[in-house]
Amino acid sequence: MSQLRVRFAPSPTGYLHIGGARTALFNYLLARQQKGTFVLRIEDTDVARSTQESVDAILDAMDWLGLSCDEGPYYQSDRFDLYKNKVQQLLDCGKAYRCYCTAEELDAKRETAMKAGRKPKYDGTCRHRNDQPDLPYVVRFKLPEDQEAVTFPDRIKGTITFRTEELDDLIIQRSDGTPTYNFVVVIDDAEMGINLVIRGDDHINNTPRQILLYEALGYAVPEFAHVPMILGADKKRLSKRHGATSVMAYQELGYLPEALVNYLARLGWSLGDEEIFSMEDLIEKFSLENVGRSAGVFNPDKLLWLNSHYIKSGDPQRLANLLTPFLEKQGLDLSQGPDIVAVVKSLQERAATLVEMAEGAAFYYVDQVDYDDKARAKFLSTEQQNLFEKIRSALNECSDFSEESLEQAFAEVMNQTQLKFGKIAQPLRVALTGGTASPSIYEVLQVIGRDRAVARIDRALNHLA
Ligand code: GLU
Repeated sequence: MSQLRVRFAPSPTGYLHIGGARTALFNYLLARQQKGTFVLRIEDTDVARSTQESVDAILDAMDWLGLSCDEGPYYQSDRFDLYKNKVQQLLDCGKAYRCYCTAEELDAKRETAMKAGRKPKYDGTCRHRNDQPDLPYVVRFKLPEDQEAVTFPDRIKGTITFRTEELDDLIIQRSDGTPTYNFVVVIDDAEMGINLVIRGDDHINNTPRQILLYEALGYAVPEFAHVPMILGADKKRLSKRHGATSVMAYQELGYLPEALVNYLARLGWSLGDEEIFSMEDLIEKFSLENVGRSAGVFNPDKLLWLNSHYIKSGDPQRLANLLTPFLEKQGLDLSQGPDIVAVVKSLQERAATLVEMAEGAAFYYVDQVDYDDKARAKFLSTEQQNLFEKIRSALNECSDFSEESLEQAFAEVMNQTQLKFGKIAQPLRVALTGGTASPSIYEVLQVIGRDRAVARIDRALNHLA
């Protein structure tokens, strides 16, 4: 075990966003690569907005992506006593103070500051108070007076400096007694031995405040790596307007977890021109040094392309297991049709998602295929009677449905009818599948088998008009 300890610390106020998933992934990859420890911590100090449903949704999504943690999940709501003690510790040594300013007073101060062209920050009114009136109060961290700047080396962005005068006395405990994010995150990361914090760069402004808190509490400061945001095509922060942003929405849309993992890893990280990375490749090759400094633009087409790649190259048995719920959702009776693995094999080249694959597979399972109107008008006419009869008997006479036997049977029909292969295959395809686009006609025949094929030809014969 190396010393590396990283963490993912989601707030359970909604589903797992793909931006969060990417942060989790980067942490996971480094932990696995360096045989370190990946800690999961649920940041649920905001009791009003945190729900068990969100916790479950986040855990499910991580599970689906294969991002297993080594420790946790820890829950901040189990650790309130620890945070209270730490607030007291800072109060006792004069590094924090009670602030009794009311919301109205603070608003007024803010307004005055803005009018005077100053940055609105707390003016320190209660810093030097010694009394403890029986009034509601918050606890504020006293910004060190003797420090001009906070500088830290960011593993992705390079050295970052904040001037202390840009900061103010941070609230570490609200008037209802609950601690705030910037405070508990420091205590937890320190107490959990986290030595590298990888998180979204929306937290970068919090980092100097947190560093000052580490120092005040006597903790070692970890390293930081701030991952740039994910943007939509319009360069605005990725949101629902741009399409699905929840990890599990992609599962429902028929994406494979390895496609999403590959896509998210490549979004913001690169290694030459390589596009395809399995989780094992990523564990071996990922590095923070190759994470870009600027935001990545989410490209749904590329994700879809990766998904079709993983569907094409996926293990048919596994895909069959993943496809089953999508087929069931269409109300298909799977006991009445061909083996799902065979169905998958016939569709792997053609479907970019499992949803598409399930739609493309429906004809295999239905009792009676739905004829597409145009296809029916063009291919199910009385002119085809002779052709269908010939095909029917050729298939009945076929010793088996091997490629070879089918080739022979078709050669015979071509010979008898003097029609080219396509002129035979297309009407037959309509009879067997209802439409004019499907896997190759031999594959369809092999998957559905002789009885079903003949029954479908008989039905087509009855529909000739
Ligand atoms: N709970 C914070 C969030 O979900 C993460 C904080 C952090 O990684 O430091 O944004």
